[in-house]
Amino acid sequence: MSYEKTFKLVIAGDGGVGKTSLTNKFITGVFTDSTKITIGVEFFVKDIKVETLGNVRLQIWDFGGEERFRFLLPTYVKGANGVLFLFSLTDMVTLAHLDDWMSILKAYDPHLPIMLVGAKSDLKHLRKVQTHEAIDIAKSRGCKGYVEVSAKTGENVHSTFETISKLMWKHLQKQQG
Ligand code: GDP
Ligand code: MG
Repeated sequence: MSYEKTFKLVIAGDGGVGKTSLTNKFITGVFTDSTKITIGVEFFVKDIKVETLGNVRLQIWDFGGEERFRFLLPTYVKGANGVLFLFSLTDMVTLAHLDDWMSILKAYDPHLPIMLVGAKSDLKHLRKVQTHEAIDIAKSRGCKGYVEVSAKTGENVHSTFETISKLMWKHLQKQQG
């Protein structure tokens, strides 16, 4: 099978927001409460079938969000076709850090499709960020969409990767003119 639609998808966001859990859930269907801290970058491949696109190969780059690895980010976004920027719905500060990441991502490609993703939607009693606040921020920062996910329940996990795949394909077609 040939995969002409191969995309490099970067998972960005602070440490602890749920990047590895979301990636694991998407790849294996399993949620574990005890993910290890991601050191540097972890790399995964998953083939999916997307309605209207057909076969898509996703190369998923799960970044260790720790401050001391921040210097790697410009190298890491090189060749990226799209980004899922994750924050935790239980922690406003992780959303406030969107601007730091955006400046790095926009310097690489001002039109790079970036989706804002509110993670841990199952933790309703701990929620600190309301949906409308996140939507406003996504719009004002030029994100291509906003979605809330739970790696624990699986809510919106698959559809998020499908949506970003469609956005990446659209962007790639524009680039190739
Ligand atoms: P990362 O540093 O961004 O990769 O974050 P991790 O995926 O390692 O997750 C950090 C912690 O949050 C772990 O204890 C996870 O079990 C927990 N976590 C991640 N996603 C969810 C979720 O959707 N729901 C709940 N309840 N906990 C989550
Ligand atoms: Mg991680």
